[in-house]
Amino acid sequence: MTPADLVVTNARVYTSDPRRPWAEAFAVQGGRFAQVGTRAEAETRAHVGTEVLDAGGRLVVPGFIDAHVHLIWGYELGEWIDLSGRPSLEEVKGRVRAYARAHPDEEILVGHGFDYAALGRDGLPRKEDLDDAVTDRPVILTAWDGHTGWGNTRFVRRAQELLERTRRDVGHMVRDPVRLEPTGIFLHTFDLTQLLPEFARRRSLDGLRQVVRNAIRFGITTGFDVQVNLRDLGAYEALRDEGGLDLRVRVALYHPEDTPAARYVEFLAAKRRLDDDALRVAAIKLYIDGVQETGTAALLEPYADDPASRGSTVYAEDRYREIVAELDRLGFQICTHACGDRGVRIALDAYEESARRNGPRDRRHRIEHCENLSPADLPRFAALRVIPCMMPRHASPELTGRWRTAIGPERTRTAFPWRGLLDARADLAFASDWPVAELNPLIGIAEAVGRRTPDGEASPHRVTIGEAIEGYTIRAARACAMETSVGSIEGGKRADFVLLSDDLFAVQPERIPDVRVVRTVVDGRTVHAGP
Ligand SMILES: [Zn+2]
Repeated sequence: MTPADLVVTNARVYTSDPRRPWAEAFAVQGGRFAQVGTRAEAETRAHVGTEVLDAGGRLVVPGFIDAHVHLIWGYELGEWIDLSGRPSLEEVKGRVRAYARAHPDEEILVGHGFDYAALGRDGLPRKEDLDDAVTDRPVILTAWDGHTGWGNTRFVRRAQELLERTRRDVGHMVRDPVRLEPTGIFLHTFDLTQLLPEFARRRSLDGLRQVVRNAIRFGITTGFDVQVNLRDLGAYEALRDEGGLDLRVRVALYHPEDTPAARYVEFLAAKRRLDDDALRVAAIKLYIDGVQETGTAALLEPYADDPASRGSTVYAEDRYREIVAELDRLGFQICTHACGDRGVRIALDAYEESARRNGPRDRRHRIEHCENLSPADLPRFAALRVIPCMMPRHASPELTGRWRTAIGPERTRTAFPWRGLLDARADLAFASDWPVAELNPLIGIAEAVGRRTPDGEASPHRVTIGEAIEGYTIRAARACAMETSVGSIEGGKRADFVLLSDDLFAVQPERIPDVRVVRTVVDGRTVHAGP
């Protein structure tokens, strides 16, 4: 018998393998799990030179897979003004002012993470609010959802110059209905900012390195970066080539609204070029709708706070169907952002039609977010083998204030139906959507098992702790088409695992975020060791 490189023993191993959910030890050899089972079995693999890790009875789970994350933001944004923690309008101004003073040389000030409700205004904030903080440089802040931007007057002017050149309202600038003057709000901010050269100049490999280190610290061993521009792929390649890509990365290339079909040649070339286990171009990401908070998610019935509107779609429905059919024909996995029930239905219909047109294959098409969906559509995920990828934290009552006003109580009750999707045998994958929500998977797991209704009752949509872990491991692996190599602790699979300070099956849900990652192992190699 070949001696093992590593034996982990005296552990409570939750494998995410339904045939053998629990084990007490395993051996690792050549970067793969060689033996999973009892202590006695694993320990026979230990020889001179084998590292033996006594887990002290603690919990070991497969490496976490974040099936929808924006690691590349670290690269794109460099350093930014942190607006997490739900600051009030005055606090936002204070943080912007302080950052501006400390960074006199930055040509544009960028912040992220403000919460609409915490600003304490009825509607959305305005550019004049930010002019109170900074007038000498453009300022652009994105809401926690990552979509809505709020700029000062200097930024709005900068955007107008750009829009005059492009002659198209990229970024969807909101105007005052009476005076037609821009309010300072942008509904699809990143479509605009990615065209600004001052944004390109902010790009920094240091930012990406930092984000990768944070991910590993939280036990993330695979990140599915769901929206990467062709131009930014080089950042991942550079990090891989310097040996700094310590987790596996799968990339979905971003397909903006105006993508010409000629670009598909470049998508295909990128897919062929980056196709190794460390870094692979896996999918294409596009949008069918926006978000409920700004009334841009496409709904089957009108908005509760705007009975004249059912939201909007990014493409006309038949145009979207054509795009999906063509990308499907080219063999891509497709990830469609759909937050509203109408958006979700349009995506399901389009996937169904492209399967009919292009014939059977293992497609793994996904719908990202699926925040509110029609109960009639729940069984369609399993039937069409479409993967819902959802972010537990986005359902948290403390973050959905404005969301609930937009949707109304009835649709809030049936929203984020994790339990119903699992019962309908959907391959529900969980994800963080960082920087929209916290990167730490344990925060998502805590929400998935401990979710409450806005009234503080236990939510009927909660899942068990085992199901939550599977959502971040084996089912996330299926969402990334990687389940034959990662996602569970099984003989032959790549040895990605996490040792935790406490037993997730024993602690109260509200204590789960305090559990620490003691060790993160990728391919049998320790990439993070905590206290
Ligand atoms: Zn996202």
